[in-house]
Amino acid sequence: MTIQCLTCNHTGLQKVRSYRTKTAHGRALFGHTWLYECRQCGLVQTVPRPTLQQLADYYAVDYRNGCFAGADVANLAEFPKDNLFYYNRGQSIADLLSPHVPEADSLQILDIGAGFGHILHALGERYPQAHRTAIEFSQVCVDHLRSLGIEVFTDPAEEALPRLGRRFDVVILSHVLEHLLEPRQMLQTIFDHLNPGGILYVEVPHIPRDSLKKYIDSVWAPRFEEPHITLFSPPVLRALLESTGFDVPFCDTAGLEYKYISALQFHLPHWRWFLQRLTPKPVFDFLRRRSATKGLRVKEREESFYQYGGNRIWIRSISRKK
Ligand SMILES: [Zn+2]
Repeated sequence: MTIQCLTCNHTGLQKVRSYRTKTAHGRALFGHTWLYECRQCGLVQTVPRPTLQQLADYYAVDYRNGCFAGADVANLAEFPKDNLFYYNRGQSIADLLSPHVPEADSLQILDIGAGFGHILHALGERYPQAHRTAIEFSQVCVDHLRSLGIEVFTDPAEEALPRLGRRFDVVILSHVLEHLLEPRQMLQTIFDHLNPGGILYVEVPHIPRDSLKKYIDSVWAPRFEEPHITLFSPPVLRALLESTGFDVPFCDTAGLEYKYISALQFHLPHWRWFLQRLTPKPVFDFLRRRSATKGLRVKEREESFYQYGGNRIWIRSISRKK
């Protein structure tokens, strides 16, 4: 079997280590999966990949139960400050984008995988005339986004965008790219539906190659990949965006520094499925909410939302269509 890089099509891939899962369903899906690194572009990807149907089943069952994306981390009565972690992220992203947002009388803004809309909210504050569109699958998120006056589509971007026949000035793709079986295809679809001069914001987890075998700031700490398909460092993400045809005026690490991630958080993924069975759900949800907002209770961590560079947990990028 010849293994091909998902982004540069090179066939020289090198095995890194086995894929780490955190749920029973994830073990069934990724139990025989390995991480491979492309010798040409440096992308790390899963081999073999699950099928589209297997992934869809996984997301329908496990994802919103096991990650910081569930309705249980939001309290919509207090939106947008229901969750200060999401609120600060939205504000810092809107601040980062503002010097790059094209001038237009009525901006068309699209968020693919909008969640509860904290990023669209922050952009709406700055561009009140903008028309905001979201693509989102989770019904609780869809209802909430519509209540904010955002137009929502619930089918995949590859189907919704060609049907819409509309072009956008700002597209947000935050923590989506690393989940896709065909990341290059998604970027091409977005490129085709941007106005000239329009910008694409991509945010993905920052997984430095060295951290896969030893953790940079905490050598013993393990981590998990589930359910990510691709793992990025800034040069790899930049190369992928540029090869799609974008100019990339900004691409850097962002967010909390890895040294602030506690040993418990690194170990929790391994124990989570076990703890989740033993702990009453309201208690588990409470602990997750506390852990999601923990960064905000330490002043220097709150500032990390507005700082860039070094060993931080995310990569943020801004790309422009010429
Ligand atoms: Zn490659």
